[in-house]
Amino acid sequence: MPEKQYWGKPTPMGRPKGAKNKWHQSPEERKAYLKDYKATHKREEQEYWKEYKRNNSEKIKARYLSNSEANKVKIRARARELKRELLSHYSNGTLKCVKCGFDDYRALTIDHINGGGTAHRRLLKGGFYAWLRKNNLPEGYQTLCMNCQWIKRSENREYKGIAQRINDKN
Ligand SMILES: [Zn+2]
Repeated sequence: MPEKQYWGKPTPMGRPKGAKNKWHQSPEERKAYLKDYKATHKREEQEYWKEYKRNNSEKIKARYLSNSEANKVKIRARARELKRELLSHYSNGTLKCVKCGFDDYRALTIDHINGGGTAHRRLLKGGFYAWLRKNNLPEGYQTLCMNCQWIKRSENREYKGIAQRINDKN
């Protein structure tokens, strides 16, 4: 018997009926086995989870409720971290507005240098930061505070109708 063996379950959380657990010689072997198992036992796995959900609905609900608060905190922390990362990147590492130097990150945003940011954001349905990261932090953006952002919009006449006339300096 080898010194170290790895217990391989056919699914991460449980074992479908009829599937046999198996000892493996290495994590790689186990990984390959699981991948192969998943590919060849889709039906069984679906059936297993259907059955599991039917028999454990209370347990699943309780777990979901106890996790959801913690998950929310985690998701918020991750979003905050991503925002900081992006603000820092688009301000050359300073985490400040590139125009005026304002540094409270709560009022800092990422500005589309050539305008058109609002339309783009609308298209992405709120996933703008994730989009930036997914696209390897493309050029053409800068970190601006909300004040500088509003001023820039006014100067570029990005407002519509009466809002533009109110915000025009003269
Ligand atoms: Zn500013």
